[in-house]
Amino acid sequence: MPAQVSVLKAQLEELRESARRRHLRVVEGVAFGLPGEDVFHCFSTRPSYQPHGSPLPCFFVMQEGGRLPTELPRTLASLRAADKSPVVIVPFNGLDAPTAFIGTAMSERATLHLLCPLDDAASRSRGLLESGMLATRRVLIAGLGSFGSTAAVELAKAGVGSFALLDMDRLEPGNVTRHECGLADVGRWKTLAVRDAILARNPAAKVDTFELDLNTRLDLVCEEARRSDLVICVTDQARSRFNCNVAALSAARPALFARAITRATGGDVFRMRPGGPCLSCLFNQGLSMGEDEVASERAAAERTPDYAPPGSAVQAQPGLACDIAPLVQMLVKLALVELAPRGIGHWERLREDLAAPFYIWANRRDDIYRDWQAMDYLYNRNSIMRWYGVRVPRDSSCMSCSMS
Ligand SMILES: [Zn+2]
Repeated sequence: MPAQVSVLKAQLEELRESARRRHLRVVEGVAFGLPGEDVFHCFSTRPSYQPHGSPLPCFFVMQEGGRLPTELPRTLASLRAADKSPVVIVPFNGLDAPTAFIGTAMSERATLHLLCPLDDAASRSRGLLESGMLATRRVLIAGLGSFGSTAAVELAKAGVGSFALLDMDRLEPGNVTRHECGLADVGRWKTLAVRDAILARNPAAKVDTFELDLNTRLDLVCEEARRSDLVICVTDQARSRFNCNVAALSAARPALFARAITRATGGDVFRMRPGGPCLSCLFNQGLSMGEDEVASERAAAERTPDYAPPGSAVQAQPGLACDIAPLVQMLVKLALVELAPRGIGHWERLREDLAAPFYIWANRRDDIYRDWQAMDYLYNRNSIMRWYGVRVPRDSSCMSCSMS
């Protein structure tokens, strides 16, 4: 099985241009290799995302005509190439395919993959989703827990090209069972870890990050909402959700709010469009039920009043990732409906299907869903694991949306 060598196509094209201008023949780069797997990702400059594996020297050899210089192995050895250093042969003409070898002796041929994520994503999604059309769309995501991190990456996969990420926490070991980022990211700001997860899917994405408590920087949230096409608020705290509601109203942008209730028994997703009912309207009319899920120690600490006796503290009680997944999936669908251009058949149909502003979902017959029907074969009573769209009238006395 030949070794596998990957190169970003965009980097290779830039390299060819600059090597031609500067008359370079051999360019030193960096490869990331996975020990024991013979898999190497080669870069002429550090990429925007964090590759797997350990760095080692790699080389790009610019080739004029069909033949390689006979002294090339000696040149590479003098540049302190490692035994396993990948060598990528780049034809100057841009027409012949690049090739790759492992080691300075050039005896071991490798399989070369050219990575062009945007082209690949667009070609595979065409017909289902015109990915290129979402490249200029910008989404503000407030809260990068299990909802926000997964939604960010799903939207990047769908072709969304610009993000503002806002969160005040670092990734903790307890987060990783439900988060898009894993143990390798523990201790990092969630904003930066999720940014890298987005860039690993779409290196051309533009990602701005804000490590702050949005409740203290409403001016910035309003400004970022104005710069975005859609606001997604998936924080674990009602106060920040209401602040995002105000920011989206002031910026006249649609906003989506999703949450799980205690131990992810179920949850809901709410869509606010300018002129329609807002998050405060929903609450004023008592349509949002159940306690928020307590997913982190910080949320638990905030929930426990100072006067609570020792031992009675609310504990973090997160549900399973598979109980969050359906809620995130609906959140992402609703986001794409807001972002997709008008006039594309299947997205227009989905827009009609998802006409309701509020959706509820139950994972199991527990808590506020304890009287619901088992899923069974019946459709005439509320049952678990089915979506229900709910009509939400605008509250004429709502202080939030009547002021905007
Ligand atoms: Zn309102």
